[in-house]
Amino acid sequence: MKISEELKQRSGNSCELCGNKDALFEYIVPPKSGESSDEQVVTCSTCKSQIENPENIDTHHWRCLNESMWSEHAPVQVVAYRMLQALQTEEWANDLLGMLFLDEDTKEWAEQSNTDVQIVHKDANGNILNAGDTVTLIQDLNVKGAKFTAKRGTAVRRIRLVPNNAEHIEGKIEGQQIVILTKYVKKS
Ligand SMILES: [Zn+2]
Repeated sequence: MKISEELKQRSGNSCELCGNKDALFEYIVPPKSGESSDEQVVTCSTCKSQIENPENIDTHHWRCLNESMWSEHAPVQVVAYRMLQALQTEEWANDLLGMLFLDEDTKEWAEQSNTDVQIVHKDANGNILNAGDTVTLIQDLNVKGAKFTAKRGTAVRRIRLVPNNAEHIEGKIEGQQIVILTKYVKKS
């Protein structure tokens, strides 16, 4: 059976989180690649957009987890767990989180942050950058808010990767911690 068919059957053609029947999507639960239906959840557009943009979260909408967190399907449990964590400051959500039991593998999956896996920092040549690397500036940079230009060829040691932005790293130049665009550096 095709994945879409499996998902249709499993979900009864409704959002597996809130039960909505309109505008359904197959949401691949990160960091999985969606190779099987066990890595995906059927969601409505409301759920999907809030999963993907937690800053727009509508607390009330997620009361639906009260039911859906008891799903027997791991991907649904993972999404429920993550959303409850995002809502943890709400007492009801914190209570539900306390009741939600995940087996070991599912819990590990739920706790993998999306950013660990999806965001890769690369230098101007496409080499992968890691925290702690030394990089060299490949052009002069005007440092915002500082009174100097960081010269091409300057080495920046022990860089830090900005977690939510693959194009930004941080490092110290002339004693100041600054944000540098990855396209202006190469790994030494
Ligand atoms: Zn929904």
